[in-house]
Amino acid sequence: MAEIKGGIGVEIEHIFPVIKKWLYSEKEIFLREIVSNASDAVTKLRRLISLGEESARDIPDEGFRIDVILDTEECTLTVTDNGIGMTREEVEKYICQIALSGALDFIEKYEGESGSKNGIIGHFGLGFYSAFMVADTVDVLTRSYKGGPAVKWTCDEGGSYVISDDAEDAPERGTSIVMHLGDEGREYLDPAVLRRTLMKYCAFMPCDIYFDDGGEKSEDYKEEPVNDKEPLWQKNPSECTDEDYKDFYHRVFSDMRDPLFWIHIKADYPLNFRGILYFPRINSEFESLEGQVKLYYNQVFVADNIKEVIPEYLLMLKGVLDCPELPLNVSRSYLQNNGYVTKISNHITKKVADKLTSMFNLDRESYEKQWPDIRTFVEYGCLRDRKFYSKASSAVLYERCDGTFVTLPEYLEAAKDKHEGRVYYAQSKTSQAAYISMFESEGIPVVLMPLMIDSQFAALVESENEGVHILRVDSELADTMKEGEAKELTAVLDIFKEIVPENTEIRFEALKDESLPALLNVSEDARRMEDMMRMYSMMGKDAPAFPTAETLILNSSCPIIASLEAKERDKAALLARQIYKLCRLSHGNMDAEELKSFLSDSYSLLSMI
Ligand code: ADP
Repeated sequence: MAEIKGGIGVEIEHIFPVIKKWLYSEKEIFLREIVSNASDAVTKLRRLISLGEESARDIPDEGFRIDVILDTEECTLTVTDNGIGMTREEVEKYICQIALSGALDFIEKYEGESGSKNGIIGHFGLGFYSAFMVADTVDVLTRSYKGGPAVKWTCDEGGSYVISDDAEDAPERGTSIVMHLGDEGREYLDPAVLRRTLMKYCAFMPCDIYFDDGGEKSEDYKEEPVNDKEPLWQKNPSECTDEDYKDFYHRVFSDMRDPLFWIHIKADYPLNFRGILYFPRINSEFESLEGQVKLYYNQVFVADNIKEVIPEYLLMLKGVLDCPELPLNVSRSYLQNNGYVTKISNHITKKVADKLTSMFNLDRESYEKQWPDIRTFVEYGCLRDRKFYSKASSAVLYERCDGTFVTLPEYLEAAKDKHEGRVYYAQSKTSQAAYISMFESEGIPVVLMPLMIDSQFAALVESENEGVHILRVDSELADTMKEGEAKELTAVLDIFKEIVPENTEIRFEALKDESLPALLNVSEDARRMEDMMRMYSMMGKDAPAFPTAETLILNSSCPIIASLEAKERDKAALLARQIYKLCRLSHGNMDAEELKSFLSDSYSLLSMI
C-alpha cells in the first residue's frame, strides 16, 4: 500500500508546544503512559484469547512481556510488547485520531485548570502523545495479532507523520514504540534515571517488564522482570501472611522498621477498589505527619498523597490504594466534588475505625502498647473528620500518670462520686508534679495530655460529650481537696495584693492539706486561649498579647498563712513574696528575672534563721 503522509491537523501548532512546555515538570509520566499502553495491549489480547476470538484462538496465553530497551548510542528508548498490535487502519484510528483527540481533551482541561501546573492533572493519562515530552520523533512499529503486514508510523515534533510498510523491525506480534530522545529527554539516557522512573510507575504493572539498559551483561546474567505483576493488594487477605505484609511494606516504602499493623481493604461493587494501609511506627509527633499513600489505577502508579482522593488525616499513614474506577482525564475540581471519591473516603474511614475498635476489643493489652504510636493519628483523624470520631472514639485511650490506660467512659464511671463529668489532666508529669500529687492523694486519677494536638482534641471531646469538662490539674481545685469554711484573712490579703500582678485574683480556701500555704490556678479556658496564641506565634502569625488571668489560692488552714497576720509587716511581705514565688515555681512558669529575685529572697530568709 502506498505511503500515507499527513499532518495531525490544525491543532498541531497548539498541541506539541503545550505537551513539551506546559507539562515539562511532569515529563517522567511519559514512561508510565507508554508502558501502560503496552500492558493494556497484552491484557486486551489475553482477554480475546480467553473469549476464544477467532484469530486469537491459537495464541498460547503465556510468554507475554514488555521490553524497555535503552540505546545510548542511537539515543533511543524503545518499549516493545507482544500484545494485540495494530493494523494500518487501527493505527490511523487509534493513534492519529483517538489518541490525539484524547491528548487534546486533556490539554484543554489542563490549561483550564487554575493553579499549579504540578497539580493532580498531570498525574492522569495524557496518553500516547506524552512521548513527545521527551522525544523529537516517535516511531510506532506494529503488527496486529490477526496477522497481516506490519506498519510503521513516524511522527516528528512538527506534527507531520508518515505511515508506511517499511516495518521490518516490527515485532512478530505486538508493538514497538521507538522514542528518539531529544534535548528534553536527554536525562533518560542515564540508565539509573530510567530505572528509577520505571520502578516508580511500573513496579506493579500486570505484565512482566524487562529492562535492558544497553550495558554489558555478565556471564551469569539472568533475565528477570523488574516488576511484581501480582501485588499483595490484589490477593485475598486470607492468602497473605504477616511476613508478606511486612516484606511488602519494607520494599515499597523503603522503611526497614516493621509497621505496627495494617488494613487490607477489598471493596467490591460498586466501589471496586483495593488497598493496604499501614500504620507506621513513628518516633515523634511530627514524624508521623509524613505518610505516603500511593494511588494506583489498575496497578499503574498514579501519584503519592493525592489530597483530592484520600482523606487528609490518612495521609499520615503509608499504603497503596488501587482505584480502577477513578475517572481519567479529570480536573482537580472534579475530583473534589466527586461522589465516588467521597464514597472511597468514607469506606476507608469506616475500615480504619473498625480496625481500631476490633483491636481494642479483641486484645486490649497489645492495643494499649501501640496506643502511644497511633495516638496522634487517631486524634488528628477525629479532629479532621467527625464521622471518624463517632466511629473510632470508643477506641480512644487516655494514659494515666501511673502508666495505665482508661477510656473516657471508664474514667467518667470511676469519677461519678468524687468529680462527676470532670476529667483532670496534666501536660507534663514533671513540671506539674505538685498538682498531680494533690489530685492523686485524693484518689483522683490524672491523665496525661502532653501533645500540642491534645488541647484541640480535648475541646472536641467536650463538644461531643455533653457535661464533660477536661481540665488541667492547675485550673481548679477538686471539691474533695477542700475541707471546712475558708477564713478571709484581711491583713494577709492586703500583703499579697501588693506582691502579685494586678490581674491576679486572690482567694482563700480551706484545704485538707494543711502543709500547703498556697497555689496558683489558671482557668482552663484562658489557658487554652493562651496555647492557641502560642501556636499562632509559632506559625509565624502575630498573636495579640493575652495576659492570662491567674488565681492565687491562699490556704487559710495552713499555719504559715495564718501566722502572717501577726508578723511584722516587712517579714510578712518577705514571706508572702516567697510563698508566691514558690507557687510560680511549682506552676512551672518562672522567668529568669523572677528566678533571680527568688534566689536572693531565699538567701535573705536563710540569713534570718
Ligand atoms: P488510552 O490508552 O487512554 O486509550 P492513548 O493515547 O495512550 O490513550 O492511546 C490511544 C490508543 O492507541 C489506545 O487506546 C490503543 O488503542 C492504541 N495504542 C497505544 N499504544 C498501543 C500499543 N502498545 N499496542 C496497541 N495499541 C496501542
